[in-house]
Amino acid sequence: MNLKKIIYSTALLGLVFLTACTTPTEKSDPSHLIKKLQPIVIQGALPIETDRLAKKLTNPSIETLGGWTFWKGTYQGFPVIISKTRMGMSNSAAATALAIERYKPIAIINQGTSGGHDPNLKVFDVVLGKYTTNINAFKTPVLPEGAGSNSLAWTEAFDVLPEDESDPEPIAIRKFAADQDLLAAAHRVKHLYTKGKVVEGTLGSADVWNNELDRIAFFHKNYGVSAEEMEGASVAQIASQFNVPFLGIRVLSNNITNNGKYDSNTGKAVQDYALDVAIEYMRTKQAE
Ligand code: SAH
Repeated sequence: MNLKKIIYSTALLGLVFLTACTTPTEKSDPSHLIKKLQPIVIQGALPIETDRLAKKLTNPSIETLGGWTFWKGTYQGFPVIISKTRMGMSNSAAATALAIERYKPIAIINQGTSGGHDPNLKVFDVVLGKYTTNINAFKTPVLPEGAGSNSLAWTEAFDVLPEDESDPEPIAIRKFAADQDLLAAAHRVKHLYTKGKVVEGTLGSADVWNNELDRIAFFHKNYGVSAEEMEGASVAQIASQFNVPFLGIRVLSNNITNNGKYDSNTGKAVQDYALDVAIEYMRTKQAE
């Protein structure tokens, strides 16, 4: 065989090999090159906190489990599940446990509206929950009949998830820390949120809407709460027990410490930002 023939037959063999390896679908769809990620769950309590997100999904399908709705789809190619938890601590705990068991999410973002405890924060500002804490778990002082009840004297917080389960009185303010990668992703895209500022803080959760300014000041001072809502700490508590990364993202929809009137449009704004955070996080995980 002369040199020309050798070159020709090697080139031909190479061509046959390449054609065999590359099917037409793989040529047009690069998805085989992309690491398959578990979905990210973005929660909101109410339609005003989930509708916009659900509408943005590509090829969404709806799954209803008990009273909880989940929209499964993709956004920019990444798997995303929008979860309407309904309001309050029990609803959000149940929705979280169901989502974790059913969808094995890579992470959970709990987002939505909140009421400001910090007079320096305005309606439309966003708090990234560096910590999320339950502001409705106490051991009250012992008082006799007729002595009344003063919540400002409830200085002992009750940790409902103590490390030592035999401790009959686990007295501590329990704060759930945000996942560092989620928090970092939130910072990287915060320039995309233009309706207010984005700050780190502590989110306080309870089945209570506090409108007593002294009580709000109590939580701001003693718990370091920037904004209150009704779900985050409950979600964080469940997610922590499954080791699922968690971040709370809350826009202030009202702030009675500085006369900030309730504005429901805040719910739309925070959904857009939360989705940006989720996609930024997924991109990072994709590249790891
Ligand atoms: N029904 C109203 C808003 C409900 S407010 C509407 O249709 O717009 C209760 C929900 O909003 C809870 O899910 C809670 O997480 C959030 N929230 C907003 N501001 C709050 C505040 N000041 N205190 C407690 N929860 C608040």
